[in-house]
Amino acid sequence: MSVFVWIEQFNGTPVSLSWEVLGKARQLADARGTTVAAIVLGQGVEEIARQAIGYGADTVYLADDATLASFRLDPYAAVLKRLIEEHQPAILLWGGTSRGRELAAAVSADLGLGVAAECLDLRLDDEGNLVATRPIYTGNILTDVVFRRRPQMATVRARAFPMPEADASRSGEVIAIPAVLREEEIPVKVVGFEQAGTGEVSVAEANIIVSGGRGVKGPEGFQPIRELAAVLGAAVGASRAAVDAGWIPYKHQVGQTGKQVRPDLYIACGISGAIQHLAGMRTSKVIVAINKDPEAPIFQVADYGIVEDLFKVVPALTEVLKERLAR
Ligand SMILES: Cc1cc2nc3c(=O)[nH]c(=O)nc-3n(C[C@H](O)[C@H](O)[C@H](O)COP(=O)(O)OP(=O)(O)OC[C@H]3O[C@@H](n4cnc5c(N)ncnc54)[C@H](O)[C@@H]3O)c2cc1C
Repeated sequence: MSVFVWIEQFNGTPVSLSWEVLGKARQLADARGTTVAAIVLGQGVEEIARQAIGYGADTVYLADDATLASFRLDPYAAVLKRLIEEHQPAILLWGGTSRGRELAAAVSADLGLGVAAECLDLRLDDEGNLVATRPIYTGNILTDVVFRRRPQMATVRARAFPMPEADASRSGEVIAIPAVLREEEIPVKVVGFEQAGTGEVSVAEANIIVSGGRGVKGPEGFQPIRELAAVLGAAVGASRAAVDAGWIPYKHQVGQTGKQVRPDLYIACGISGAIQHLAGMRTSKVIVAINKDPEAPIFQVADYGIVEDLFKVVPALTEVLKERLAR
């Protein structure tokens, strides 16, 4: 009755959220006196299986096959469903990326299981059952979810748990398993990939985000935001108002209909703090708000508030931090 974790990879590179989830799985399994199994699907991904052992897996189920080279729902879900049926894990965890959420949803629907999505915390109750904490009502309330059926499944939001230390001396077993579907049974074909970003830090993965809202007043108003972000090694975020105005592309949008983020530091500049924006960032570890209006709702969730014109504060912060951080 072990804890299973799906390890996501793209082009042979593991997604770091998978290691965060695996580290948490290790803690849960230790608390239950049980084992952790990682599931690695892809082609030429044996190295990821070895890394999974270093990050806490006792066993790795490795399906290495040309049909699994790129993520496709049908062949991936087929392997996952077979593993669940054969091994009946107590708990199955997924990183809450778009692929992880899609796969978890498909597997849960096909097997009639529940899945708690976007979890921020996981623990075991006195009977050893999973209790998953997730935000509801656009992030205003955190609720605990318990499960009627097994495996108890949850997707986990990025940075909910710390990155574990890899231990290259750990030992474990890699078990090769076959793909379930043949190529001719898979309706979706991957014809190629197009790179969207140009080396900028993505809001979904950033430790620090500097966001701009309608208060930046135009596309050029994002320049001081970008400069502060560059000094901090941060990603640039935005409110929907700024995105809808065409000042910055949608991929930067934070909120209910944008990215849900949980960085160590979120700096909101000229953002009022509408509930739909807070839904995407209120669980950030430290929130700094810069806004001219002392009544702006963003100050209700901010750890530090600066009531001032962002065009004065942001360049001043950039200068000071440039010196302090010597960048
Ligand atoms: C279904 C739905 C989904 C939505 N999803 C999202 C979402 O995902 N993300 C999102 O962000 N919004 C979302 N919204 C929109 C949301 O309701 C707000 O309209 C939006 O967040 C407002 O953006 P804002 O804070 O940038 O703009 P405003 O609310 O106009 O606030 C601008 C702020 O800038 C301040 N300001 C102005 N000039 C300066 C200056 N020089 N210096 C400092 N401060 C200044 C003002 O005091 C003000 O507080 C959604 C709405 C709906 C209905």
